[in-house]
Amino acid sequence: MTATVIDGVAIARDIRAQWRTRADALGRRGVTPWLAVVLVGENPASRVYVRNKMKACAENGVRCELHEFPADASEQAVLARILALAADPNVHGILVQLPLPPHFRNAKVLDAIPIDKDVDGFNRYNLGGLVVGETAFLPCTPYGVMSMLDYLQMPIEGRNAVVIGRSNIVGKPIALMLLARSATVSICTSKTRNLSQYTLLADILIVATGKPRLVTGPMVKEGAAVIDVGINRLADGKLVGDVDFDSVKERAGWITPVPGGVGPMTITMLLANTIQAAERYAEKHAPVSA
Ligand code: NAD
Repeated sequence: MTATVIDGVAIARDIRAQWRTRADALGRRGVTPWLAVVLVGENPASRVYVRNKMKACAENGVRCELHEFPADASEQAVLARILALAADPNVHGILVQLPLPPHFRNAKVLDAIPIDKDVDGFNRYNLGGLVVGETAFLPCTPYGVMSMLDYLQMPIEGRNAVVIGRSNIVGKPIALMLLARSATVSICTSKTRNLSQYTLLADILIVATGKPRLVTGPMVKEGAAVIDVGINRLADGKLVGDVDFDSVKERAGWITPVPGGVGPMTITMLLANTIQAAERYAEKHAPVSA
């Protein structure tokens, strides 16, 4: 079997167009969705991510403002800015680009973002809320993966889903979202013994480890949907995922490429969350029916 390659760029384009329509409708009501991005330090990858987010905002009717701090900025200075943004009624979403420099306490900073402006979905209320199915916003990469599966009308209920990776921002949230949709979910980590024993059972296999080409063809069930979240830069500059694309595509039914798979979905869901935050603001302060 040769897998159908999932075109994340095309799916993202389609979903963005739907959200753009909603942003435009808000604009006609005098509300421009507004995202504030807080960036601390000079991490080159973070700068690229932030640039891409700002570009996507500009193209989709979302105002994006960058709040930059030097690497030696104090946690207090960054917290003060977040509190000011939290109090600003024009700002609908606040995102703190991770990683923060080592002298910052991530949880302290992320929890300073009010729940209704936490468009990255990373504060403890929104992450913890996944357990009980009550969140203001879903974290963007897991939300992107689920949106991709839904866009393709992949059946989830009753399917075997295996998630490799249990980070707080990718693996665990995806596993909880799949569980909420009644998949039978297994979570594998770097300590899992005999990884193939699990992956071979997966109808849906989500890989988020940061280990280049960890999953190879013989580890995959014939016809499975394989979603590769990993983004790894090899020594020769090539960008690859956590899945060995060439061997896995000969066994899987569906596969995402890297780049051009999950990556574009992540930014799309950030736009969606920000536009939704602005819609909620508009509804609260100037209901359409009023
Ligand atoms: P992380 O380092 O926080 O977590 C990695 C997880 O993988 C850990 O739980 C670890 O136990 C597990 N793991 C590591 N080696 C393993 C192995 N050999 N077998 C089984 N499990 C193993 O990473 P993260 O933040 O979750 O990111 C994972 C990958 O996804 C990275 O490549 C990252 O760049 C990428 N990522 C992509 C996007 C996107 O938009 N596409 C967004 C976030 C992260």
